Amino acid sequence: MPRENAKARHARMHEEYAILCETYPHPVCALNFTNPFELLVATMLSAQTTDKQVNKVTPELFSRYPDARALAGANVQDVERIIHSLGFFHTKAQRAIDLSRALLETHDGEVPSTMDELTALPGVGRKTANVVLGNAFGVPGFPVDTHVIRVTGRLHWRTDWRTPHPDPVHIESEICAVFDPADWTDLSHRLIFHGRDTCHARGPECGRCPLAGTCPSAGIF
Ligand code: SF4
Repeated sequence: MPRENAKARHARMHEEYAILCETYPHPVCALNFTNPFELLVATMLSAQTTDKQVNKVTPELFSRYPDARALAGANVQDVERIIHSLGFFHTKAQRAIDLSRALLETHDGEVPSTMDELTALPGVGRKTANVVLGNAFGVPGFPVDTHVIRVTGRLHWRTDWRTPHPDPVHIESEICAVFDPADWTDLSHRLIFHGRDTCHARGPECGRCPLAGTCPSAGIF
């Protein structure tokens, strides 16, 4: 592929995103939630496991502990029992309780709706904050997870695509600079869908990928 300047790359990114929009017309958060508190806790629990696994445990968790006040006063062993199947359950149970206590102390039990306030909470990083902002509050957010890192790298959507361990904050700022803020959350969902469905970590299915016509990495695996 000839060397591509920034203008051409940005144009290709928009073309490829249009294809992703056709391929995944209904981008939604895969975690089940009914309010910002549930999404915040569910996202925290989703580290190192799948959203499907989290969705199996959260109905019991939120029926016993429906808000920050209830979870802040929970018995840690009871929370561990409920989330046991997720792995790292000791750490996650304590983190969920600590997070709820912080929400109670600093925000009267409500989940804040700004990046700075969210990332000031214990155990909440930019990825979790962006998930909550974009999906619970409708505030533009671009969560960068392992699928987003892999797919944007293979597509050369970012200039550091050769870097083995790129900085998620840099990825977020570089990709967000090219797209309208109104698209950020759905763009992240669609990249995640594509990573799960086709552009797998091992054995990407380039032969049936709708982006294969322009993807610089098509067929090189
Ligand atoms: S062509 Fe292959 S490497 Fe490129 S996005 Fe599609 S599956 Fe991934």
